[in-house]
Amino acid sequence: MAELEGLEFGKSDFVLLDEVTMEQFMENLRLRFEKGRIYTYIGEVVVSVNPYRQMDIYGKDTIEAYRGRELYENPPHLYAVSDAAYKAMKRRAKDTCIVISGESGAGKTEASKYIMQYIAAITNPSQRAEVESVKNVLLKSNCVLEAFGNAKTNRNDNSSRFGKYMDINFNFNGDPTGGHINNYLLEKSRVVHQQEGERNFHSFYQLLRGGSEETLAAFHLQNDPAVYVYTKEGAATVTSNNDRTSHKAVISALEVIGFSKEEINSIYQILASILLLGNLQFESDGESVQILGQEAVNQISELTATEPESVSKTLLYRTVACFGFITALYERLFGWIVGRINTVIEVKDYNPVLHGKNTVIGVLDIYGFEIFDNNSFEQFCINYCNEKLQQLFIELILQQEQAEYQREGITWQHIDYFNNQIIVDLVEQPHKGIISILDEACLTVGNVTDTVCLDSMDTKLAQHPHYTSRKVRMHHINPTLKYSVEGILDKNKDLLFQDFKRLMYNSTNPVLKEMWPDGQLSITEVTKRPLTAATLFKNSIVALVDKLACKEPYYVRCIKPNEMKSPMLFDDARCQHQVAYLGLLENVMVRRAGFAYRQPYARFLQRYKMTCEYTWPNHLMASDREAVEAIVTQHGFQDDVAYGHTKLFVRTPRSLFTLEQERAAL
Ligand code: ATP
Ligand code: MG
Repeated sequence: MAELEGLEFGKSDFVLLDEVTMEQFMENLRLRFEKGRIYTYIGEVVVSVNPYRQMDIYGKDTIEAYRGRELYENPPHLYAVSDAAYKAMKRRAKDTCIVISGESGAGKTEASKYIMQYIAAITNPSQRAEVESVKNVLLKSNCVLEAFGNAKTNRNDNSSRFGKYMDINFNFNGDPTGGHINNYLLEKSRVVHQQEGERNFHSFYQLLRGGSEETLAAFHLQNDPAVYVYTKEGAATVTSNNDRTSHKAVISALEVIGFSKEEINSIYQILASILLLGNLQFESDGESVQILGQEAVNQISELTATEPESVSKTLLYRTVACFGFITALYERLFGWIVGRINTVIEVKDYNPVLHGKNTVIGVLDIYGFEIFDNNSFEQFCINYCNEKLQQLFIELILQQEQAEYQREGITWQHIDYFNNQIIVDLVEQPHKGIISILDEACLTVGNVTDTVCLDSMDTKLAQHPHYTSRKVRMHHINPTLKYSVEGILDKNKDLLFQDFKRLMYNSTNPVLKEMWPDGQLSITEVTKRPLTAATLFKNSIVALVDKLACKEPYYVRCIKPNEMKSPMLFDDARCQHQVAYLGLLENVMVRRAGFAYRQPYARFLQRYKMTCEYTWPNHLMASDREAVEAIVTQHGFQDDVAYGHTKLFVRTPRSLFTLEQERAAL
């Protein structure tokens, strides 16, 4: 509660604001940030502002203070929501999920790591070896995924260039027994091209700066990123993480997870091949194209365990498609690493009869809205994903809330909110949506250009209120957000020639071969059209949303205080913009109009009947509802509740604390 921290730190829950206005919201957010209070609630939602400095609020003592406690017993913290999700999972056998959102650099990945650390710290009190090992692998997987999936961008030195959803499985004791990681849309184009001032994925620099002399010699590499086309852009930029020490940590994490020596070696051989491929030079005499320097070709074929002739033949035959091949090499490597971690952490020997219900906590750390000067296919996909998640948030928090009050016959003031479904439909509706139109253009034989495709969109979507001819508008975040169609068809087709797949499938390195199973398909099988990139992405996001929708959700909404990575600066305009598009003010309104807690009468009675003389041991009332009324009246909080058809609704947590305390004292 607010009193826990003292009023000079502002309101710990935006629900307690005197008036729900943007001004008051921002004033409170700023005050708390300046006082070093980076977390604030909206009911059970945590709003977090990136402090851009080390905070002394994640230690063992803090974990102990939050362990097993109710949300409002302590100042707002990620640990409190983690504990709430954990309790719901353990006590009520509910699958829960924690959805972390916010733009690049807002602190999502850091938050997800603190959440996992908290869960690891409070479980397995008896230190059982097999549980400890599962926890260890889950925690170590972060280090590996960050090395291969994160990069320095102009917005964030350690930016996740993929989306991550991790399920953690628990047994009936509430101890982790395994997990599963889903990854979404790795930004693979970064392998071959980086914006000015940005870097390639960390893994390349870690290898070049941290690999031993023997390793680098065996890989035909020099220990200088400036030498390689794919790493020279970011070679001189200093990042906050040290590539050399990170490399050691990654290798050790891979070993702990259970990657074999051969597997680890293969991973880095692939990285080395990519670097060497990037430095290959082609020469054309007008008639035919040659690769300059047979030595490099030999080295690449050695590293990929393929025949030198096959390497040069494939590269020369498909010269224009080489970028696609190189980015696919990295993408498949990343996918394989995730898959390999999954085989280690998947729950084995699980028997529901013997082991009871297996419950899950999911943690989602996925890229936030991206609005650049030039927005392309990637931004389109990422922003579509965010619109979808925003829609889920609206549905779960706002719509369900209102619907439940209506169902239960509770008087309630309607809150207007923007229903995002219309935007989601614009993108994903079968036959009519943007993705369908894109796919149709990709499937059409003949010369369909990006502009022709745009014309087709203009015709089909002219009437849509959120589509403007020659630019796709996403009203919800920014009424003039534009996407460029340049290159959009190629990116959507994501064509990868069978020659490349076959080359890799024919590698005598079993790890590499395993990454390219489709290289063995015969020509007739290959002629089937693969799904487009947009459709594959859409399918994965639809599956993700389905997965989240059947769980009890907890939300962490991250805000980036400024563009300077400064711990001092609270940029009002930037923050207000984020508060607006995250719909936080609407969230406060709904929460304030509503009731924080609700329970079916029978369950409430079961839990608290011992605190009232009229209900203990059994009540003689005509209904459970009347018995609950007796409890409420005896404790004097009748003004804090409403009686629904089947449930009791409680406005503030204070009333429940009183009951909990009495119950505990008996
Ligand atoms: P992206 O979408 O680019 O992956 P993100 O939201 O995951 O961004 P993070 O990588 O979590 O952002 O945070 C960016 C940086 O901000 C971190 O590297 C760290 O320096 C700082 N930071 C974030 N959260 C905290 C925190 N709780 N305490 C201290 N520093 C933090
Ligand atoms: Mg991140």
